[in-house]
Amino acid sequence: MSRLSLIRDKKFRDHITPEEHPESPARLVALDNMMHSMSLNETFNELAPRAASVEDIASVHSLDYIAELEEGSKEAIELGRLIPLDADTFMSPKTFETAKLSAGAGLVAVEAVASGERDSSFVAVRPPGHHALADKSMGFCLFNNIAIAARHAQKTLNAKRVMIIDWDVHHGNGTQAMFYDDPSVMFCSFHQYPFWPPDSGWYTEDGSGEGRGYNLNIPLPNGTGDRGYFEAFDRLVKPVCHEYQPDVILLSAGYDAHELDPLAQQRVTTLGFAMMSQRLADLRDQTGAKLICFLEGGYNTQSLSESALATMQILNAEGAEASAIVQTSYAIPAASGDSPVTQDRSPDAVDERIIDIRRHFGKYWKTLR
Ligand SMILES: [Zn+2]
Repeated sequence: MSRLSLIRDKKFRDHITPEEHPESPARLVALDNMMHSMSLNETFNELAPRAASVEDIASVHSLDYIAELEEGSKEAIELGRLIPLDADTFMSPKTFETAKLSAGAGLVAVEAVASGERDSSFVAVRPPGHHALADKSMGFCLFNNIAIAARHAQKTLNAKRVMIIDWDVHHGNGTQAMFYDDPSVMFCSFHQYPFWPPDSGWYTEDGSGEGRGYNLNIPLPNGTGDRGYFEAFDRLVKPVCHEYQPDVILLSAGYDAHELDPLAQQRVTTLGFAMMSQRLADLRDQTGAKLICFLEGGYNTQSLSESALATMQILNAEGAEASAIVQTSYAIPAASGDSPVTQDRSPDAVDERIIDIRRHFGKYWKTLR
């Protein structure tokens, strides 16, 4: 039986962006096509999304902001064109509807793990969410899907501790802001730094009030490869997760740290994402937490599709089966005969950064001392 529920729907293609915009419906078309060509259509427990209600969305967004987006889509219908919200975020006639469905897919995913039959879900949606602030859209994001799901998990799963891991190449500034003073939701983000959003995501942004120490930023130098990501996972995320003992782990699954991505400069490979996914599956199994992944960025449609599918296949598999999937599907030897995982452009800078972060967070987490 499958362990993973997949929430996908052709309606997520209805949010339209300008021509040449990287966050396009083609991203999900490519994922559907690859699933078909790899004969994966019957593999997962597929569920349909439902639209999130205003009340659900208002758990993290202001009512004024929700109304503003509704108006934006009306305006797009009346004027028959896209309405810009900022330099790179747009509303099309069906954007409001699609954004509610995108948020609602996360609610379905939470409920799917609540039944106990399956412990993992993957939400293949757009628009993405992790840059969206309580009262402002940003960076292609309208509603913060993962934040809305975190609040839903606290309510429906009675989750006392929710851990959000964000491996999108950009800092998840919206998610950070929403839980900055809240120890019941730990936020942990890997991102290229310095990068976009500007001046966002340094490790001294570690939370406020009771949330101090529950916001773990891992700003990685430009050119970090698989090796640096594994080190950061194993020396920071993994030990802190074991100490925090979350009931639920949510992943902002962006794949724009891939070496083929056009927007960023990190060097993670598809095999690298597969091996990160294996680490995530191990955390789930060792802590007994439920796990839900939310598609965020990833703008090379080929690398996005294969990396997202690697995550889904690995989370769906049982122990030994998962490593067989990694071996057969993704462990493509490098042409040079070297290890197929990529090294960092400046490994010393990555290692020093990890040491600095461990030192800073040692005052909050025993395991890092
Ligand atoms: Zn991103």
